[in-house]
This record gives sequence, C-alpha cells and structure tokens, in this order.
Amino acid sequence: MGIFDKAERIRKLPPYLFKEIDKKKAEVKASGIDIIDLGIGDPDLPTPPHIVEAMKRAVEDPSTHRYPAYDGMREFKAAVAGWYKRRFGVDLNPDDEVIILIGSKEGIAHFPLAFINPGDVSLIPTPGYPVYHNATLFAGGGAYFMPLLESNHFVPDLDMIPAEVAKKARIMFINYPNNPTAAVAELDYFERVVAFAKENDILVCHDAAYTEIAYDSYRPHSFLEARGAKDVAIEFHSLSKTYNMTGWRVGFAVGNKKAVEGLGAIKSNVDSGVFGAVQIAGIQALSGDQSCVDEMREIYTRRRDLMVGGLRAAGFELEIPKASFYLWVRAPEGYSSAQLATRLLEKGVVVTPGNGFGEPGEGYFRIALTQKRERLEQAIGRIKAAGL
Ligand SMILES: *Cc1c(COP(=O)(O)O)cnc(C)c1O
Repeated sequence: MGIFDKAERIRKLPPYLFKEIDKKKAEVKASGIDIIDLGIGDPDLPTPPHIVEAMKRAVEDPSTHRYPAYDGMREFKAAVAGWYKRRFGVDLNPDDEVIILIGSKEGIAHFPLAFINPGDVSLIPTPGYPVYHNATLFAGGGAYFMPLLESNHFVPDLDMIPAEVAKKARIMFINYPNNPTAAVAELDYFERVVAFAKENDILVCHDAAYTEIAYDSYRPHSFLEARGAKDVAIEFHSLSKTYNMTGWRVGFAVGNKKAVEGLGAIKSNVDSGVFGAVQIAGIQALSGDQSCVDEMREIYTRRRDLMVGGLRAAGFELEIPKASFYLWVRAPEGYSSAQLATRLLEKGVVVTPGNGFGEPGEGYFRIALTQKRERLEQAIGRIKAAGL
C-alpha cells in the first residue's frame, strides 16, 4: 500500500453520481450564463430574527464558552420533549430519550457505528438520502435496497423484502416527508413498519427532517405517534429546514432509550457536543413564537403552486406535493434524468437528476423550491423555452 492509499471504507463508497452534472454546472457558470439553482435543498430564507437575537445574547455569556454536555443541555432536551408533546402528542423523557446532534446528518451518519457489525444489513430506501447507505458502509455493513416506486406511493413495500433478508437486517431507514420524492406516509403505514420491525428484531431509524414543511392543512406525523413505535424506533429531527438553520448545525434524535444511548456512546468518543449558544438559540426556536413557521409554509405554498402550474403548463407530469420543499417530476419520454438535467442546465436552470439518488430515480428529476418567486418565474420561462 502507498502512504496515501485510502482505506477500504472510502474506496467502497458508491460513485458520486452528481459528478457529471457538477462539472457541467461549473462549465456553464464559467461561460457566463446566469444560473438559477433549483438543485440544492438549502433554504434561501434567513433564520428568524428572534432566534438570531437569542444566539447573540448567549454568545456574550461566558458559561457558553466551555465544553457543553456531550449529549446536550438539559434545558434544550426539555424543549425538544415539550415541542414533541405539543406538536405530535408524543411523550419523551428528556433525560434518556433525547440526544442533541450537530445536525441530524451527523447523528444519522454515526448511528450505524452503534448497531451494525461487519456483515450486518441495513434496509435502505432508494432513491434516498445517500447518508443512510454510506454510513452503513462505514460501519462495515451492507445494504438491502427498498425501491420507492410510484406504484407504491413511494413507500417501501414490506412484503417485497425477502424473509431471510428481514431476519438478517438490523436497521431500517425510512424518511417521511421524503427527500427526494416529496411523498408522505400515514400512521397506518408506520404501524405496519412497527409490526414488521418487532417481528424481525429491526431497529427503525426515521428521518423526520421535513415534518414542518407541509402544505394546506396537511400536517405530517412523527413515526413515534405509531403505536409501539418507541419499542423499536429512533427518530432524527433537525432545526435546519423548520427554522432555516442549515448553517447552524443543530438537530436531535428521540425515541427508544437504548437506541439513544448507543448513539451517545459513539458520539461521546467523537465530538463534544453542540456550542451552548447554538443550543440556547435552539430552545428559542422550539419554545418561542411559531408564527415564523406558518409564514415559511405560506411562502413555500406560493412557490409550490407557481412551479407546479408552470411545469404542468410546460407539459411535465408531477403530483402536487403535500409536504417537503421538493417537486419530483417525470422527465418527458425519450429523456433520461441526466439528459434532461443537462438540457435544462444549458438553459441556465439547475435541477437534480433523479438517478443520482438511486437507480429507481431514473426518469425523474428533483426541483427544490429554495429560490425567490421571481427566480422561479424566470426558471419556468427558461424551461418552456427548452422545448422538451
Ligand atoms: C436536510 C436533510 C436532513 C437534515 O440535515 P441536517 O444535518 O440536520 O442539516 C436530514 N435528512 C434529509 C433527508 C435531509 O434532506
């Protein structure tokens, strides 16, 4: 081995499928074409001012300058429990059923290290957030992919998982509202997942990053609302999308205390917790006035309606999403995801090719509603001009 030969776990990572489109994007940008980026799931809106103010005050307090408790401030964990009770009617003990994370991605990425031995299997949705698979690989585990298909409303068909795979599996990842398909799942589905997990001794990891980004009167469920869920599940949540705080790096996991404890055992050996001032801002976010969340939902609703209308007028087929800030759109006949994304990129519109999230995403592309109205209107004009 050469000195800088990478470890197996890095070499075994799946190919990064957005490489081509990233390269193309850089080329188009360099040629001076104005680019409207509908590719990234990162809110363009600022963090609400009352949260920023709480952070400013907390930074002045020297007690926040020292190492925080590795699993989170008691007051922040209590604020998480209070928010879960108000929002979902779910009871949580802040002392052993809540852990604070450096963003939910960090917790999801570390979680398999606590429960996957080399050779173990995770059940992973595809198309999906790449961290579930890559984190499983880092722990030495393997993946069984559960396809998310339109014919199943983009939820895994539990009956299609072979019995011997189910018996071997240790973790099942699911994510609703879903990135990238924008699908939602109802409580009866979550209850079937709980039964499946109990029958096969599987730990369910629900990624709930988008529960607050929902339209009209629809409000997504927490997985922990399902009967018996806390016996088998941990749920990952985040302030990133709800309060436009992606840059702050703060999230949390809640649920089964042994799952929470396992994650804590890994984290206490890797990081030393979230900056106290950020946690104090987090308390303000969860416990303070929630009208900022209503305002955000209204903004995304207007953008969704504008974009769905524009795309349909341009001849595209798509569902009107009930939640998330994504649109999952079918590419027209004769276009692969990559060809479609390339064509739109030449017109100055960045979308994400669906196959980048996994093979069953082929034939789709994802649009993120993370640009201002005027930019979305311009994007619609350019998409129409692409003449697909
Ligand atoms: C944005 C997102 C997250 C949240 O990530 P943070 O690390 O909390 O910023 C988690 N899961 C999915 C599917 C996401 O899209």
